[in-house]
This record gives sequence, structure tokens and C-alpha cells, in this order.
Amino acid sequence: MPRTLNQKIGIIAEKAVRQHCKCPKCKKRSARLKPLPNNFKCVDVVCDFCGYLAQVKGTRTNTHREITLVRAGGWKVLKERLDAGIYFPVFIVKVQGETPTGIYYVPADFLRREVFVGHGKPRVIKAEQPAGKPRKYSMFNYDFRKLGPHRMIEIWKRK
Ligand SMILES: [Zn+2]
Repeated sequence: MPRTLNQKIGIIAEKAVRQHCKCPKCKKRSARLKPLPNNFKCVDVVCDFCGYLAQVKGTRTNTHREITLVRAGGWKVLKERLDAGIYFPVFIVKVQGETPTGIYYVPADFLRREVFVGHGKPRVIKAEQPAGKPRKYSMFNYDFRKLGPHRMIEIWKRK
């Protein structure tokens, strides 16, 4: 069972992507985006036909509001990949209450270093295990206002 609000939103987002999105690479009708185990770093789903990898992010927001900042992940694992020039495509799911209301997609080649904004200070993140102690992490946000000439692609909207 999800324990924190963010985990809950993450699960809602991933389910919405599996339900409403085709694999952006092979676009094969029978292909499925399958969830990856939580210990996979920086990616959340894989296409069971072509192996395409993507991140999935849920963001709690009003349906009509533009998506700007979204939690990207832990600084350390992400920075290693950004420094190596590795960007993963990302699905962003708008969640209102507990209902997904829209899905947007940003291909990896739309992303650039400026999109990732680090928090200055490490934040205390609630422990994911009930017995675990809260730990301090430095986090990255996506700032989707910095996509440059690109815009995120709307894939699905709740009717
Ligand atoms: Zn595929």
C-alpha cells in the first residue's frame, strides 16, 4: 500500500499511462507499457515489445492550469545521468483529487539541462518504510517552462 501522498499520486499516474498511452516508439497496438520495480533508477515503465523506457510523473493540479514545476527525483542519481547527457522521456499526469485528468508527454530530445532545477537545500523526505527514519535528500524539479521551442504533447484528456 502506498504510504505517502506522493507515492499515491505516483501509482495513480502510472496506472493512467498504462491505460491510455501507446508506446511512443514502436506504437504497436499490442505493446504494453509495463511498470518497472521501484529500485530501477530514473525510469518507471518499459515497453514490452521494443524496450522503450520512460519516466512517469504525477502532479496534483487543477485541470486547466498549465504544468510548470514537477518533482523530478533525487539529485544524486539524476545528476549522474544529466552529466552523462542521458535524458529519459517523461509522461506527466495531471491528477485532481484522485482522478487523472490529462496526460502529457515530453520526448527525451525536448529535454535539456536547464529544464532540471535543483533545490538549494536538502529536504527531509518521509521514510518509505514504516520502520525507516526520515532521510535528507536533495531533489530536482522539472521546470517545463524551460523546454525552449518545444511544448509538451497532449496525449489524453479526461472527457
Ligand atoms: Zn514499444
